[in-house]
Amino acid sequence: MTGKGHRISTFAFVLGATGSPIAATMSFFGSTFPDSSEYVFFGKRRNRYHRRYTHWFVPWLALAWACFSRSGWIVPRLSALVDGRNAHYDVWACAGFWFMGCVLHILEDAWCGTVPFLRPWKRDVGMHVFHMAKKAGEMSAGEVNFVLCCSGISFIAFMVRFFTVDSFIQFIITLWRNI
Ligand SMILES: [Zn+2]
Repeated sequence: MTGKGHRISTFAFVLGATGSPIAATMSFFGSTFPDSSEYVFFGKRRNRYHRRYTHWFVPWLALAWACFSRSGWIVPRLSALVDGRNAHYDVWACAGFWFMGCVLHILEDAWCGTVPFLRPWKRDVGMHVFHMAKKAGEMSAGEVNFVLCCSGISFIAFMVRFFTVDSFIQFIITLWRNI
């Protein structure tokens, strides 16, 4: 998956799942790190190690877990970070969501190729729900559809947090009367 695809679908997924824009933003920034870390660790030899050690979910998940447990399993809020009192819980939660971005990156890669499962040096799980474009950095039609689906479902999940069925019907009626 392209960097753009990773960033958009991860942001949308975390926003839908948590309802927290700050959590989604942290995951957005973490979502390309498993790829960019290959340049840091392997430099020119990165192709030989592509989607292997850096795409093993275990260390990322362990780091996310450690940060989340430090945070007391809360969803971070911008208001708490600005306020500053007890903000260290929200800071740990932000770090947790950054690592969650890395975990989601690997899941997203598994939709369009293979990633390691139990052995970090062997890419043995994954499927081809869509294929990547031939040109590096370009999004294929399949990838665009995948990202749109992911964003659409997440947008609905995000909206559902703010509407009950009754209030949603009221909203539609009010909207209708004002058109
Ligand atoms: Zn990747």
